[in-house]
Amino acid sequence: MSVTIKNPHEIELMRESGHLLEKVHDQLAEYIRPGISTKELDRIGEEMIRSMGCIPNFLNYAGFPGSFCISLNDEVVHGIPSDKKIIQEGDVVKIDAGLIYKGYHSDAARTYAVGEIPKEAQQLIKVTRECFFAGLKYAKAGNHLNDICKAIGAHASKYNYGIVRDLVGHGIGRNLHEDPEIPNFPMRRRGVKLLPGMTLAVEPMINLGRGDVEWLDDDWTVVTMDGSLSAHYENTILITEGEPEILTLTK
Ligand code: MG
Repeated sequence: MSVTIKNPHEIELMRESGHLLEKVHDQLAEYIRPGISTKELDRIGEEMIRSMGCIPNFLNYAGFPGSFCISLNDEVVHGIPSDKKIIQEGDVVKIDAGLIYKGYHSDAARTYAVGEIPKEAQQLIKVTRECFFAGLKYAKAGNHLNDICKAIGAHASKYNYGIVRDLVGHGIGRNLHEDPEIPNFPMRRRGVKLLPGMTLAVEPMINLGRGDVEWLDDDWTVVTMDGSLSAHYENTILITEGEPEILTLTK
């Protein structure tokens, strides 16, 4: 599949999809507190998405049994919402969310600290977010995809963090996952040329320890192999003639 270029009408729908997803994240964040299960967060979030007339795009995606991926601490991504997973003081919670609005997908992830967390954990969350913005600087028409990848990787490497290599960002539009794949580390090629109308989900996944990950026996939950803490930050962005537009973050 080649990289899709969205026309102005599609861009408007992508934008609306992204703005609604930002609202879901902001509203759901209010519910993250010690004592709540990840299943309850998923239920509340799904209701928000459906009340907006949208569809949670993760639900049943390749059989995923939740509307949100909620991953705690050494879980990197794709945590399955569960009644048995109760959020505790000191947890690092990653919420990855996506929705479909009038046929157009958006995808964004945030990492939250629950109460007090160690300084090194705070820094990991901060730097992971910065990695996204480091890449965003290069998300301009005429640049190549690898310019984004290199910038993300370079920022994480400054802190000696482990970059997850088994999972990558992606194009997005009428499908949740479209071409191109967007690694968070330099590729050996320059990659596609960025063009106005491309919509991309850029999503650094960064570990305090090594970048190696493994899959749990539920076949979904990805954890760090060394048990170290992991952070995730993602937005859906639009390549324009000028500065990139972040569709899932407006403030
Ligand atoms: Mg994504």
